[in-house]
Amino acid sequence: MKIVADLHTHSVVSTHAYSTIYENCRAAYERGLFAIATTDHGPKIEDGAHPYFFRGLSHILPRHVGGVYLIRGIEANILNEAGDVDIFPEWSDVFDFGIASIHEASFGKSDFDRTTNAYLNVLDNPNIDLLGHSGTIEYTYDFERVIKKCADLGKMIEINAATFRYRESSLKNCREIAKLCAKHGVYVMVNSDSHICETVGVVDEPLRMLEEINFPEELVINGDIQRLAKFFADKKGLNILE
Ligand SMILES: [Zn+2]
Ligand SMILES: [Zn+2]
Repeated sequence: MKIVADLHTHSVVSTHAYSTIYENCRAAYERGLFAIATTDHGPKIEDGAHPYFFRGLSHILPRHVGGVYLIRGIEANILNEAGDVDIFPEWSDVFDFGIASIHEASFGKSDFDRTTNAYLNVLDNPNIDLLGHSGTIEYTYDFERVIKKCADLGKMIEINAATFRYRESSLKNCREIAKLCAKHGVYVMVNSDSHICETVGVVDEPLRMLEEINFPEELVINGDIQRLAKFFADKKGLNILE
């Protein structure tokens, strides 16, 4: 298994990351990737990107940077049990792609029911395509219910390489989530969640896990250029092959 694009990367505008968008793109190009999404943190956490950054995404960033196609994204913060996120209404035409993630800084501590409801509710948001690093053990949820809803709405689940690197206690959850995605025919997206260019596109460990559980390759949405292009064409009217 392999990936052709990394759709979860952070740049220095999230102030706890260390590389520029250009450096991330060059690193992706050198690793043989076709595209990346730049997905800095929403503004409701202290070290998230400034709102001006997002407002400018669609008219300042070119489509090709450093040899790769650049998808305009955000890692939005899930703020509460109702599934609200920090994507402002005036950004409705800015993003190609939205990740929704739970971070303690904006969501606080939680329990099984609150986390489950937050994920179920955020899936109804048309700006959200992917649940980010949902394997995190502290935010365990009703996998079956949420993944079934992803199947109904055509939403996706991330298998996040940073979790494998930094949150070993969450790996059991990641494996269980992947198995349920296979069962319900839900696309997974295997991303680095890179905070420095050296790790853009580095997803060996999650791919190894997917191989171990015989995960169907055709359900890795970013495993194939045509498959990924079809998602953006069908869902977003965006031709990433241009
Ligand atoms: Zn995150
Ligand atoms: Zn992230």
